[in-house]
Amino acid sequence: MEQIELVVAGARAAYNLGKSRPLEFRVQQLKALERMLFEKKEEFSLALKKDLHKNEFAVEIYEMSGILNEITLAVNKLPEWAAPEHVSKSMMTLMDSVYIHREPLGVVLIIGAWNYPLALIIQPLIGAIAAGNAAIVKPSELSVNTAQLLGNLLPQYLDKELYPVINGAVEETTELLKQQFDHIFFTGSTAIGRVVMEAAAKHLTPVTLELGGKSPCYVDGDCDLDVACRRIAWGRYANCGQTCIAPDYILCDKSIQDEVVKKISAAITEFYGADPQQSPDYGRIVNQRHFKRVMSLLEGVNVAYGGQSDEAELYIAPTIVTDVDPDSRIMQEEIFGPLLPIVTAGSADEAIGFINKRDKPLALYIFSHNKKLIKRMIAETSSGGVTANDCMIHYTVDTLPFGGVGKSGNGAYHGKFSFETFSHRRACVLKSLGMEKVNSIRYAPATDSKQKWTLWLMRKRGGSAKK
Ligand code: NAD
Repeated sequence: MEQIELVVAGARAAYNLGKSRPLEFRVQQLKALERMLFEKKEEFSLALKKDLHKNEFAVEIYEMSGILNEITLAVNKLPEWAAPEHVSKSMMTLMDSVYIHREPLGVVLIIGAWNYPLALIIQPLIGAIAAGNAAIVKPSELSVNTAQLLGNLLPQYLDKELYPVINGAVEETTELLKQQFDHIFFTGSTAIGRVVMEAAAKHLTPVTLELGGKSPCYVDGDCDLDVACRRIAWGRYANCGQTCIAPDYILCDKSIQDEVVKKISAAITEFYGADPQQSPDYGRIVNQRHFKRVMSLLEGVNVAYGGQSDEAELYIAPTIVTDVDPDSRIMQEEIFGPLLPIVTAGSADEAIGFINKRDKPLALYIFSHNKKLIKRMIAETSSGGVTANDCMIHYTVDTLPFGGVGKSGNGAYHGKFSFETFSHRRACVLKSLGMEKVNSIRYAPATDSKQKWTLWLMRKRGGSAKK
């Protein structure tokens, strides 16, 4: 454990030398990261196959493409993002240079989850490097092959002192969290998010928490059910349901429930064949503990489709559960597996009420032809993000902030938002030593005239809000 303290101290010493700050250095490190992803693609594919049965398509689309795009964006935009942002001034500062300077936070800690074990480590790391920080990287121990590979490869491509990898489980993470950081970026469950925030509070360290929760999916009667059900099946069963923004449950009118089951099961067969266990495109549960947890959620519920499993292979079939009691266990915790419960809601109002009674979710999905209804549901609920008439797509748009709200997390990243997350916005006013006559009106002794002029000078150029 002394080792962990030394690694963090080493990163701080390297950071204090100012090594990570020059833009050219940041770009060079980002390009080295990109090179690692290209050169070691096969090794990452193999590790991800061993960890989660991901095939090449899944690795390219869900792990690699997003982070490669983020690196390109950061490299191209860095001079613009890091440039001083000149802002409007008060009369008092009219002659001064007034701007926001983005400076690195310092030494940050990045803790990743196992479900997209490459992307969820590299994506925040891109932001941390782009913003000029040192970063300690802690991959999830559950995706053991990817974690080991990151531990081997990152030091070969990046500066070893500034960006060390610490592998380990709860004991190591607990030790890490005792150290002083300038920011902690955590991706994982709401329960461990609490542990991280408590540890951070001891040092008053700010945190970004990318958590999970139960993301609802409302299916309106007025919608193209064929398309909706295929898109929902894609979102729910990709990566064997182990996606933080997967639709966790469906809310729909009872009159369309059977139709929804029929169409989602048809999509499952279309995607994965009659026996998904044989499909190279269908994933596996990460480990036995999660296998047992997901299977236990099926106790006492009405399985309308699927339900088969094979513990030796950590396989759980794509499953649909109908007429689900909102108080049942499957509706109390995030499923994070290939089960899709349907809860019936007689109207959009009922669905809105249902969503608002629960913790604010990471994502909300609404399927409807009715644009007014979509806008109303957005206005009358809250969630980290929304995609209408599809699932998960808001995650892929790098001009949108990705993050949760309430118990699904706080803070956001992707694209420029990652750079902002790992930067301090420093308020800068650069005055000259001239014009002392004007400046002296604020000095004692006070007079009515000085007070009048000072107040006038302090006004914003826009004047009063009362108009
Ligand atoms: P987890 O909370 O169990 O683990 C996340 C990380 O915390 C791991 O690196 C682990 O080593 C560490 N950890 C575990 N127990 C700890 C403890 N007691 N003290 C300190 N550190 C500890 O989460 P997970 O199982 O890896 O991931 C699943 C959860 O993550 C789901 O809830 C999912 O929704 C969420 N998630 C969110 C996002 C997002 O972007 N918002 C992405 C992926 C996953």
